[in-house]
Amino acid sequence: MIIHLKKNIKEPEAKKIAKLTESIIYKKNNFFILITPSKLKEPPVEFKNKIADYFTMENDMQLSSKNYSKKTREINFKNFSIGGNSNKTLLITGPCSVESIDQITKSAEFVKELNLTTLRAGCYKPRTSPYSFQGLGLEGLKILSKIKKKYNLNIISEVRDASHVDEVIEHVDIIQIGAKAMYDHGILKKCGKQNKPVLLKRGFGSNLKEFIQAAEFILSGGNENVMLCERGIRTFETYTRFTLDLCGVSYIKEYTNLPIILDTSHAMGYSYGVPDLTRACVAMGIDGLLIESHPNPKIAKSDAAQQLDFNEFKNMFNSLKPIAKAVGKDII
Ligand code: PEP
Ligand code: MN
Repeated sequence: MIIHLKKNIKEPEAKKIAKLTESIIYKKNNFFILITPSKLKEPPVEFKNKIADYFTMENDMQLSSKNYSKKTREINFKNFSIGGNSNKTLLITGPCSVESIDQITKSAEFVKELNLTTLRAGCYKPRTSPYSFQGLGLEGLKILSKIKKKYNLNIISEVRDASHVDEVIEHVDIIQIGAKAMYDHGILKKCGKQNKPVLLKRGFGSNLKEFIQAAEFILSGGNENVMLCERGIRTFETYTRFTLDLCGVSYIKEYTNLPIILDTSHAMGYSYGVPDLTRACVAMGIDGLLIESHPNPKIAKSDAAQQLDFNEFKNMFNSLKPIAKAVGKDII
């Protein structure tokens, strides 16, 4: 159950009620929100006069649930928003990893050329092998900061573990939590205690319940700006890198209030399939896309096989616009 306490309830009393109801508590503007275990179906009578509003829940998908808010949450950026009443599909692109200032400059100029708003590149890469390129770390974040100022772009980059969350938060506009980090409670909790938008990727071995409950860790910390990212799950199929779960996307749209971003690059794993897959996603009427592109994918230090070159990306982008329009969306 989610309980909105009355505005006149001060912190010590709110905390006392939270303790007695075994709730997580956070403050929203000028009132406190309690999230009790979902098995509680009626607010305790002794607190009834302290409650402004309450929402009964079927399970532990609470703050993310349509039972709490029918509308998709609105995530606000400098000049636009997604979710809520917005009809925008946010197209995020950039290379898998920051490799050099020259590479990121080219990517930023490409994003600008297409009139897009948001550049993505990783600095802390969660690689499968310790012998692969691990990312430039803080040096990469500094490159992104410079480019952000120069080109006035929104920047998104990922956290790999809790040790550098603060560093990433300081340098970026959107924090990406990668598929392998989805279960890292240190990261989830830190991201819940700040307000920048978080793009949470689905672990490739996680079901929807586990994915959405990971988002609940961030939401229940008080950060209302969470976006879910479907990036493919592991199935018996090996000819493609992962299997993009579009049925899961329908579930998320129907039952949760969280914006949904589709990452076709990591799902497919091969650039040849990315444009088709992306067109299929846009036709679903989604809140955003994450597509990897690189000035020269052949020499990319990570995920070389799946990144589109600028020409491939431009062709795909042009083909997306009419599809977006057909479902009432506008790509930004
Ligand atoms: C990435 O976005 O470059 C990445 C490593 O993705 P994922 O966490 O989905 O594997
Ligand atoms: Mn990648």
